[in-house]
Amino acid sequence: MDEKITPHLEELTRAFGDLEKTGIRAEFEKLLAFRVPPDVAKESILRKFGGKRKVLKVKDLSNNLKNFEITGRILDLGEKSIRPQEGPSTLYTGVLADETGSVMFSSWKELPGSVGDVINIKNAYTRIWQNRIRLSIGEQSLVSKILDSVLPPLSELSGSQTKKLIDIGAADFSVGTVACVLQLSHREVLVRGRQSRIVSGVLADETGRLSFTAWIELAGIDIGSIIRIEGAQVRMFRGMPSVNILSGTKVSSVEPEEAGKLAFTFESAGKDPVPLKIEKIDSRDSMFDVAAAGNVVSVRPGSGIISRCPECGRVVQKANCRVHGKVESVRDMRIKAVLDDGTGSMSVMFPRELAEIIYGKTLEEAEQLMFSDIFKDAVYEDLRRFLTGRYLAVRGNSSKGEYGISFVAENAWVPEDDLAVRVVELLRRLGPDEEGYGQDRDSQVSSGGVGLA
Ligand SMILES: [Zn+2]
Repeated sequence: MDEKITPHLEELTRAFGDLEKTGIRAEFEKLLAFRVPPDVAKESILRKFGGKRKVLKVKDLSNNLKNFEITGRILDLGEKSIRPQEGPSTLYTGVLADETGSVMFSSWKELPGSVGDVINIKNAYTRIWQNRIRLSIGEQSLVSKILDSVLPPLSELSGSQTKKLIDIGAADFSVGTVACVLQLSHREVLVRGRQSRIVSGVLADETGRLSFTAWIELAGIDIGSIIRIEGAQVRMFRGMPSVNILSGTKVSSVEPEEAGKLAFTFESAGKDPVPLKIEKIDSRDSMFDVAAAGNVVSVRPGSGIISRCPECGRVVQKANCRVHGKVESVRDMRIKAVLDDGTGSMSVMFPRELAEIIYGKTLEEAEQLMFSDIFKDAVYEDLRRFLTGRYLAVRGNSSKGEYGISFVAENAWVPEDDLAVRVVELLRRLGPDEEGYGQDRDSQVSSGGVGLA
């Protein structure tokens, strides 16, 4: 082998595995044939096919991921012709599974394997399609069939895996769980022109909560029921994964004897969530119905009194809606504040009912201030003065986006009872002697340079 290209081939092998199988060798040869210097060819391939490899499992998949590697067993595979008017093109779709879950995929390339085979995909990406996360294999992805023994057998991977609620991921194709029904409500919706009754609510176990929607009748199931769900799908709803119970899903009541052995009861699962560290919230793509507490480090612009379109609820400027044109806008109040607990920070959105509580002024009172003050941003400035530095607890849903966590509060309060604990913790941090803080309180506080009123 040519001495000039050997080190580059070695490096590519380290990055991609078998060069023949993945087609990387052919790509490399092609570039050399165009008289591209070997080192430039290598760099170009690393860039194109993703040199920095991120290896993910099905449970790690969320929306809009790019350039990662994943290995799974093909559970299902089909093909269909797409856009025949632009020349024949085939889309391969199916289900891929590993020991953490199963996900739907689509591929523009013919796969080097069929149902039951294990494939490795490099430079894969994800997309949302019909509210579900899809693993996508594109032109730039590399797919190779690999050793069968790296994953559990087909019989074990097919069928829905039973998971705790916290482990149910946004990508899960088919899941099962045992959980308690915490909330339940019925509503009528129009599905393809037909009036249908759907059930929605909240499931809980000892690890967390998740919303669910049932498109079928749930006979004999009510708030407090402990149920086993098999073969449910996960769909995205308002940026959160939600369990979907469809005609193919099996739902049954758990017998009292078995329910007694579970790690949760209706009472324990229904308790208010214990505040989590923001760092923990930040470690997940989204969390449903969780609590956190921290100090308001800033109040973001756009907080205060806003005007909304009466038709669509969009925020409008000068009574002009982007969609509905000139409208009779309705006033609303909201607060967007950054909460920090020392482990991380998150942007929290407080809708009007909560904004009024934490600000201590009603919308009407804030309007009074707006009209009586010559400064345009009087309410925003007042909010900043009032809220910055305050300690608040919030409960709601979090989702992670490009700019960090955004948290929509559904409840907010000032954790009064926590104050004493925090003062003790602060004193402990300031003083070297844990035992002595009680007696030497004054001296320690002064030596730490912090005065507590
Ligand atoms: Zn509008």
